[in-house]
Amino acid sequence: MALERTLSIIKPDAVGKNVIGAIYNRFETAGFRIVAAKMMHLSTEQAEGFYAEHKERPFFRALVDFMTSGPIMVQVLEGEDAVKRHRDIMGATNPTDALAGTLRADYAVSIDENAVHGSDALESAAREIAYFFTEEELCARTR
Ligand code: UDP
Repeated sequence: MALERTLSIIKPDAVGKNVIGAIYNRFETAGFRIVAAKMMHLSTEQAEGFYAEHKERPFFRALVDFMTSGPIMVQVLEGEDAVKRHRDIMGATNPTDALAGTLRADYAVSIDENAVHGSDALESAAREIAYFFTEEELCARTR
């Protein structure tokens, strides 16, 4: 296993439910270190750019509308095997398929409003982290 970084987003539905701290607690309990974080209200252009790979999908417009409907929390998580372990903690895209105890089982209401995002591979993690953070904004956690 290797030390990895992955991008996490707490989506507008979960921010609206006031569960940022509860979700951060899950990350820290799982052994992740938060090495960068910010609250943002995405513009349409920012949301379209982030989800560009889905632009031909039927749900794209609704996804952009949802992701711009309120503030989000964006963070970079660091830890061993972070990309896969973060996906495991998140649970399946559709909350009805998500295992009990996962973030989506606990906080998502539907496949469209599913509480959290997490990078799905090391390559996409690098691209997504760079989409939101400069190199200088990523803090070394040495203590
Ligand atoms: N999505 C949606 N309807 C669908 C499939 C996906 O609204 O039928 C949204 C949902 O918010 C999902 C995002 O598009 O989280 C990206 O989809 P992907 O398949 O990459 O799922 P994820 O990696 O987020 O689990």
